[in-house]
Amino acid sequence: MKTIKMLINGEWTGNETDEWIDIINPATGEGSAQIVRGNKSHADMAVTAAKKALASPEWKAFKPYERGQLLTETARYIREHAQQLAALESEDTGKPMKQAEADVEAAARYFEFYGGIADKVFGDTIPIEQDLMNMTVIEPIGVTLHIIPWNYPIQITSRSVAAAIATGNVVIVKSSEDTPLTTNFLAEWFQDKLPKGVFQHVTGYGQEIGSALSSHPGVNQITFTGSVPTGIHVMKSAAENVVPVTLELGGKSPNVVFKDADLKRAVPAIVNSIVQNAGQTCSAGSRLLVEESIADELLSLLQDSFKELTVGPPESGADVGPIINKKQYERISSILKKVKEEANVLVGGESVQVEGFENGYYIQPTIVEAADHDAFFVQEEIFGPVLSVVRFRTVEEAIELANATEYGLVAGVWSKDIDVANYVASRIESGQVFINSYGAAGGVQMPFGGYKKSGIGREKSHLAVQNYIQIKNIATKVQL
Ligand code: NAD
Repeated sequence: MKTIKMLINGEWTGNETDEWIDIINPATGEGSAQIVRGNKSHADMAVTAAKKALASPEWKAFKPYERGQLLTETARYIREHAQQLAALESEDTGKPMKQAEADVEAAARYFEFYGGIADKVFGDTIPIEQDLMNMTVIEPIGVTLHIIPWNYPIQITSRSVAAAIATGNVVIVKSSEDTPLTTNFLAEWFQDKLPKGVFQHVTGYGQEIGSALSSHPGVNQITFTGSVPTGIHVMKSAAENVVPVTLELGGKSPNVVFKDADLKRAVPAIVNSIVQNAGQTCSAGSRLLVEESIADELLSLLQDSFKELTVGPPESGADVGPIINKKQYERISSILKKVKEEANVLVGGESVQVEGFENGYYIQPTIVEAADHDAFFVQEEIFGPVLSVVRFRTVEEAIELANATEYGLVAGVWSKDIDVANYVASRIESGQVFINSYGAAGGVQMPFGGYKKSGIGREKSHLAVQNYIQIKNIATKVQL
């Protein structure tokens, strides 16, 4: 089994006196690697090293354009090793190679995008009065903590780390205890490219080293992606230290399909939006709201598509991979059991035994129709390949239902009527709305984040830079 050490203060950290955690490959249910069970003293070491790196002459001498060049070189390196990285991501998460390859390309795009922005972040001169010269200066916010979930490790690490390094910060990445491999790959790359302590990678359980870091007074900013309860916990810890947070917490995003929609375009997009990464996507299109008059036709097309999907490990070339771990698999299985008792399952609904991979965590892509939008499975984020369907009759009802969950991350609106589509888009409470499409292959340049419990702040795009800077106003009085 591979052993993954932490990168703290430029040194590979972890030895026989540490405790180690087994990483399970979800496709096989067998161990694939071991990580260090990081603890509070590791957290202290990482923060001390980060603060030192932030103040170091070596990092201060790194000019903005040089940071940009390094990030651009990182993008090139990622592309040169795309197959190796995709294989690591696929091994860690179980996702099909095609999806892992797309994630790796998106990661390269983040480094490229923020590499290009690094020397274009600057302040203003503000006219106040003659002989008072007023300017704003942009400074890094400092020690940034990046807490990463298991569903898109390489993409989620890259998007916030690239923006933070572009703006001159130092970063500590806490990878998920399920998926450390691709962050470790980046740590190996950055080890001799950056002054020690500028990029650090720590591993272990969220409640241990994750919590020790998010409550650490030496951390100046936190970017967290994961569940709502953990996000709340992280935000409370940050509040104690008066530290800003960017939270990306998931959703229950709708595809809203009107009677004049082009179903040929809508069907593959709706299917992909819920089965990609086995539905373990914060922006998954997990609710389908469909106008009554075309509901039967659309559901029949979707059922046909779902029945054609194959489920299995990455090496089988299947469309849908396993669920990330035993805990999530059991959680989704018990939700499906309850769903079957109270609703109409149109297709799927069972776990899958894959020959030769009997210990993997596989679930059938599932469509379930709800009589009522308040049904628990329409409201709760299931984080599996489960599409919940509700019918509507009017435009106003569609808008009301689209907004009737505690989330607001992404929405798809399907209609050929430009007035209907834009009327609905403008009224949906959601960070992103797609008209006649859904998702955007990483969407590197598009601001991404949530309304309501889907989160706070925006990642991706030029706007994410705002998460990692502080603004100083300097006024000079001129007098002869
Ligand atoms: P989680 O929120 O528990 O974990 C996400 C990250 O936070 C991991 O790195 C974890 O180690 C860390 N963490 C956990 N507890 C922490 C704490 N007390 N302090 C600091 N860091 C902590 O998510 P999970 O258990 O991996 O998944 C459970 C649910 O989270 C899923 O069912 C899904 O609803 C949601 N989820 C959402 C996303 C998303 O992209 N929004 C991604 C993964 C999981």
